[in-house]
Amino acid sequence: MDRYSLSPDLGLGGRLTIDLSALATNYRHIAARTSPARAAAVVKADAYGLGAERVAPMLAAMGCRDFFVAHLAEAIPLLPLLPPDARLFILNGLAPGAERLCADAGAIPVLNAPDQAARWRALAAQRGVRLPAAVQVDSGMSRLGLTADEAAALAASADFAAQVDPVLVMSHLACADTPDHGANAAQHRAFTALADRFPGVPRALANSGGAFLSSGFHGDLVRPGIALYGGAPFDGDNPMRAVVSLDARVIQTRTVAPGAGVGYGLSFTALSQTRLATIAVGYADGLPRALGNRGAAWFKGVRLPIAGRVSMDSISLDISALPEGALQPGDWVELIGPHQSLDRLAADAGTISYEILTSLGSRYERHYLDAAGAGLEAA
Ligand SMILES: *Cc1c(COP(=O)(O)O)cnc(C)c1O
Repeated sequence: MDRYSLSPDLGLGGRLTIDLSALATNYRHIAARTSPARAAAVVKADAYGLGAERVAPMLAAMGCRDFFVAHLAEAIPLLPLLPPDARLFILNGLAPGAERLCADAGAIPVLNAPDQAARWRALAAQRGVRLPAAVQVDSGMSRLGLTADEAAALAASADFAAQVDPVLVMSHLACADTPDHGANAAQHRAFTALADRFPGVPRALANSGGAFLSSGFHGDLVRPGIALYGGAPFDGDNPMRAVVSLDARVIQTRTVAPGAGVGYGLSFTALSQTRLATIAVGYADGLPRALGNRGAAWFKGVRLPIAGRVSMDSISLDISALPEGALQPGDWVELIGPHQSLDRLAADAGTISYEILTSLGSRYERHYLDAAGAGLEAA
C-alpha cells in the first residue's frame, strides 16, 4: 500500500490504521514469554482507543479467556461478544448500587476495598449463591486495593469464604516500566505475603512491563495492555510490533516570506522564505497541543517539523525540506508509522503512548488490517 496516496477519502482529516495481525503477534509474544502463566488482555478505554469490540473477540479466538476493563459500563457491550467461558474483570471494582447489574451481566468485580467486598457478599447472601470476585491488595502503589490489615480480615472472614469465590488475587506494579527499579522487588515481596493469605487462589501482579520482568513476577496470570497495542512496555528498545499508524491529509500548501508568523499567537516566525503545508488534524483529534513547534510529520522519508501551535482541527508543517511541488493538497503525511513511532510522537508531546492512544478521537477514518493479514477493511 502506498501510504501517501491513501484512498478512498471519506472526507475526514486523518486515517487510523489498526494492524490486528501485529496485535495478535504481540499477544502471542507475551503469552509465550510468560507461559505457563495465563495471558489476559486489558481492553479498558475501548482497548486503549483501538476498538475493544474488534480486539477482544479476536484475542478470544486466539485462546485468551481473561479480559479486564475499568468500568462495568465497558463490560456490558463486550460480554456478548466473548465466549461463555471467558472472564471479564472490572478493575475499578464495584460501584455502590452496581451490584445487581454486575452479577446479572456476569462480570467479575475486582474488590478493591472492604465496602466493595461487603456489598458483593450481601448480594450473594441475598441470592443464595456464591459470587466470583477478584481481590486486589495494595502492594505499595497506594492507588487501589486492600491494605494488609484489610486483606487479613477478609481472608479470615468465614462469611466471605461462604459467599464469595475468590478467583484471583491481584496487585499492580508502580514501576514495572523501569526493570531495575527497587520498587518492583519490594512490591513482589509485599504481594506474595498478602496473597499467601488466600491459599490456592491464582495470582496476578504483572502488567505489560511486569510481563518483561523475571518469571517470578508472572504468577498465574499476566495482564498486559499497552504492549498488545504496540507501545513500549519498558524504557529502552521496544520489542513489540507497531499496531497503529496515523496519516493526515494535506489541506493546502503555501509559501511565506521571511518574517511571516504561523498559527495562533504567531509562535513560529519564518526566518527565510518558507514553504508550509496545513494538515487536517488537530488537538480535537488527540494530537496534543504540546506538539506545537516540537513534533513533526513525515513524507516519503523527509521530516516535516510542526510550525506554530496545534489548532483544534489543523496543524501547519514546515515543508521546506521537500522539493517544490512534492507535497500537494490531498496527499497524506505520516504522524505515526514506519518513520515515527507511537512512542516517539508521545515523547515529542511530553507524554506517554497510553495517553496518545486513548486520546485518538472519533474523527478518523478507521481501517483494520485483519488478523489473517488479508488486507484493508473499512470499519
Ligand atoms: C491498565 C492496567 C493494566 C495494563 O497495564 P499496561 O501497562 O497497559 O500493560 C494492568 N493492570 C491494571 C490493574 C491496570 O489498571
